[in-house]
Amino acid sequence: MEAPQQSTKKKFKVGIPRALHFYRYFPFWKKILEELDAEIVISPLTNKKIVEEGVTHGFGELCIPVKIYYGQLLRLVHDHPDLDFVFVPRYVSEVKDSYFCPKFISLPDVIKILPDVPKILNFEVNVKEFPISTAAIELGRQLGKSQNQALDAYREAQKYFDEYHEFLRNGSSVNHALRLTERNRPFTLPKKKNTGDIKFLLLGHGYNIFDTFINLDFQKKLHDQGVEVITIENLPEFVFKKPVIVNPRGGKLRNYWRHEEEIMQSIRYFLTEGRDEIDGVIFLISFACGPDSLISELIMRDMKVVGLPFLEIIMDEHSGEAGLLTRVESFVEMIRRKKRRLDLGKKHKFTIQTATEV
Ligand code: SF4
Repeated sequence: MEAPQQSTKKKFKVGIPRALHFYRYFPFWKKILEELDAEIVISPLTNKKIVEEGVTHGFGELCIPVKIYYGQLLRLVHDHPDLDFVFVPRYVSEVKDSYFCPKFISLPDVIKILPDVPKILNFEVNVKEFPISTAAIELGRQLGKSQNQALDAYREAQKYFDEYHEFLRNGSSVNHALRLTERNRPFTLPKKKNTGDIKFLLLGHGYNIFDTFINLDFQKKLHDQGVEVITIENLPEFVFKKPVIVNPRGGKLRNYWRHEEEIMQSIRYFLTEGRDEIDGVIFLISFACGPDSLISELIMRDMKVVGLPFLEIIMDEHSGEAGLLTRVESFVEMIRRKKRRLDLGKKHKFTIQTATEV
């Protein structure tokens, strides 16, 4: 693609849909695009109209996060008709042994079916084929920048992204950290800490657990019940160093989905040394998500073995507030009773025969 001409004064205006991998990579994208002199606009928080629009353009069996992506992109284009580009990166592989879901891989192609989509700004992450710095050089080229300018921008963005991850490991919620990033504020923890007498690990893709519209403000429901919530972004780095082997007695299978691998790694930690750190696990899954439904079955089996309460919640555009609240309340109540019975804080020994190698 030819690099468009940039006048000496005007910055390229780049739109970012607030959906899918926004919840994972936005700080990196923001930094690299700003270092490359782009002006960024982001679509608003998800709302009913955005979902309806996405559903209209997505075919029936498509998972809701992709439908929301469509809706967010259309809102962006509608609100900002002067966009030079819409930023739609293609994430194929971020580490050598795993892939992203095919819906991520095909995203820049499929959004072309949407009406009035401006030029797409490409950023392909595919470390099986080339380093991310190569993708940064190509991104810079599309914005009319030299190789050195692109590499400098990439290094700055990576540095900022490392700080962002450190902040999450120190206990920040992703939504709080994203808000600070959006507002160009320093990373400082909120004064009011999220605490409770029980603690859950909330599992799921970022777009399921941090988009408060589609999950009906799920984390708030837990906080209101006196539950402290952690997500995999809060876990220490060592948890994600070793691959998970699925079904060790049946042929040593590797999970090759990137995000599902991280979920399995975090579960392995709580099956073993982290067992006493949480009281339960909730997994938020999108209806029609193939990768998540596969691993959910394995997680459920392992949770049973160690006696760690597990709740799976499947969401779609029709999920209802009342039903969700009832399930959360009964799960929390069941755990509180169990804790009382076990006489709070008592240690237990387990014989572990799990579906994954721990
Ligand atoms: S991982 Fe699941 S929810 Fe996410 S885009 Fe793929 S199918 Fe949809």
